Amino acid sequence: MPEPQNPPPKMMFQLNLRRRGISDQAVLRTMEDVPREAFVAPADRTDAYRDMALGIDCGQTISQPFVVAYMTERLNLQKFHRVLEIGTGSGYQAAVLSRLCGHVLTIERYRTLADQARARLARLGYDNVEVMLGDGFDVPEAAGNFDRIIVTAAMEEIPDALARRLEPEGILIAPVGPRHGVQTLIRLLRTETGFERKSLVDVRFVPALPGIAREL
Ligand code: SAH
Repeated sequence: MPEPQNPPPKMMFQLNLRRRGISDQAVLRTMEDVPREAFVAPADRTDAYRDMALGIDCGQTISQPFVVAYMTERLNLQKFHRVLEIGTGSGYQAAVLSRLCGHVLTIERYRTLADQARARLARLGYDNVEVMLGDGFDVPEAAGNFDRIIVTAAMEEIPDALARRLEPEGILIAPVGPRHGVQTLIRLLRTETGFERKSLVDVRFVPALPGIAREL
């Protein structure tokens, strides 16, 4: 009898996403295509396809693949959508989004992370992503409104000014709750008369902090 072999990590990666309830084929295909190992620290490459968050520079994290897939699925992306991401980090979530929509503007408050992510995304050919050094609590008016907004850092509340940047029928997803501890993913849908708010699942994100970081 041959020894039973462990399936390769990338196969387990897909299986885990399906097992945990990700069913959108386009999202699953994109998760398979985007090379997470290119977004983690060199020392973490062997762990790139494990379902866990990993540390990146500036004390931040690249999110757990399940959470990336789940948030992406809940956004119901269309090929023509303009998407805003707050919290570029490694650029991984932005890369996943970019394959499923028209354009991604992603904002990061650390210059080091913004510069690294911009270079990495360009090198890997994600050319419909724009990385901006800035503050997601203060998105420039000139950037316009968005079909979808995804916040990947924990906010104590969703600022009205941010929700108003959604186009009609637009969707915003954000982890809402205390800075340190457990937050709940909230999905806001912009309707003709206001906003419909729904709680999804509990998550843990690093906090969203105001202003461009003074450290690099
Ligand atoms: N989406 C990222 C992970 C995000 S970690 C990825 O795929 O790798 C959260 C990121 O949000 C951190 O890099 C942090 O610096 C950034 N952040 C926190 N507050 C912010 C703000 N006000 N504006 C922009 N970025 C912010």
